[in-house]
Amino acid sequence: MTTVQVPHEVASFAAHVRERLAPFVGQFTQAVDSDTDDDRIAAVEELRAGHDEQVARMRKLQSVLYDAGIAWPSGPADLGGLELPPIHDTVVDEILDEMGFPTREALFVGLNIVAPALVHHAPAELRERVVTGLYRGDLIGCQLFSEPGAGSDLAGVNTRGVRDGDDWVLDGQKVWTSMGHLADVGEALVRTDPDAPKHAGLTMFLVDMHAPGVTVRPIRQMTGGAAFNEVFLDGVRIPDSQRIGGVGEGWKVASTSLGNERSTMSGAAGPLTPYVMERTVELVKRLGADADPVHRPQIAKTVAAVTAMRAAAGLSPGSWSHGLEPVSGSVLKMLMAQAADEIAKLAEAVLGERAFIDHGEKDAFAWSEFVLGVPALHLAGGTDEIQHNVIAQRGLGLPRR
Ligand SMILES: Cc1cc2nc3c(=O)[nH]c(=O)nc-3n(C[C@H](O)[C@H](O)[C@H](O)COP(=O)(O)OP(=O)(O)OC[C@H]3O[C@@H](n4cnc5c(N)ncnc54)[C@H](O)[C@@H]3O)c2cc1C
Repeated sequence: MTTVQVPHEVASFAAHVRERLAPFVGQFTQAVDSDTDDDRIAAVEELRAGHDEQVARMRKLQSVLYDAGIAWPSGPADLGGLELPPIHDTVVDEILDEMGFPTREALFVGLNIVAPALVHHAPAELRERVVTGLYRGDLIGCQLFSEPGAGSDLAGVNTRGVRDGDDWVLDGQKVWTSMGHLADVGEALVRTDPDAPKHAGLTMFLVDMHAPGVTVRPIRQMTGGAAFNEVFLDGVRIPDSQRIGGVGEGWKVASTSLGNERSTMSGAAGPLTPYVMERTVELVKRLGADADPVHRPQIAKTVAAVTAMRAAAGLSPGSWSHGLEPVSGSVLKMLMAQAADEIAKLAEAVLGERAFIDHGEKDAFAWSEFVLGVPALHLAGGTDEIQHNVIAQRGLGLPRR
């Protein structure tokens, strides 16, 4: 990694990031052909289908960021970070977007959900090896939490972990595993003590996704992509050195991952990138919807929702590296999903059937992926109802019903 003096003030840091990225622009943007928005959306869809070249490019981009010393501005210095405030992470994401670099979507879970758990709870060797691998793009991570019988009631997971000498043997099924088909490592919430109260009987492990006994089966989604998977764990052996946190402390580790997942979903690395905002404005202007009284109320609602989300994200005290408490993550995640709803409603209203039927028009059918993907934002990372519960009980101190 290059050692250069990095300016801390946001505007100078942004200039520094642009300068570090400038030599690589052609190398990464050519392949995505960012001349048309449709091509760029198609590139995201290809990735979702597990396109090898897209994934290789994403890993390469991550390694470029790492070598340039800007992969992880808010991360701890002992793991290659700069220990800057989390706004600097957002600056890097926004500048990547602005300069037309391709999405790093395949890396989102590893960087924003798995890495925080490792940083805070993993033993030193695991922490250093895997977190560095994730931030260099050598490793892709996935989150093995949900099961067919445990989603909202996550503490009800049934995947069993049984101690066998220096190893643990895992058996069970996980589901909705985003990017599981691309992942090298998975953060797995496992029941190690079936007799303990349900939150106390859980332990977190880092699973090698290429290990014998791990089977990954993609699930086709209504957006056309297949970013989800079922993951079957049949007698998978995990050395105890790959335990994240103490035995019986899996819930604490899961809370670190979940709090960060919710807050990053509303940041520049989440689904509402500046690129999406820009496309929305372009769409409205191109179709003259801003001059149409029928569409103006929805435009106003969209602007209000996006502005509220961005203002709240800017006010948020920080991200995982600074110990963001779970309630802020829930509030931000709900504001993000609401803003995405308004954008989708607006796109659908101004495009009509062209949002869903491909007539070959530029930036029309390309919206279908976004519009059809928005309902999932009310579920991923915990449903709206669960966020309401978190805010009511942990934030406002209201009693459970
Ligand atoms: C895009 C996307 C990506 C995802 N990626 C991952 C991933 O990578 N890894 C992973 O482990 N999981 C992932 N998930 C799964 C996600 O975390 C679960 O879908 C979510 O937690 C809901 O669980 P469930 O689907 O089992 O629904 P259920 O828990 O069965 O909920 C069904 C309905 O009941 C409501 N409900 C349940 N309990 C309560 C309650 N106590 N109070 C009020 N209402 C309640 C819910 O709000 C919901 O409307 C992903 C989901 C999506 C949509």
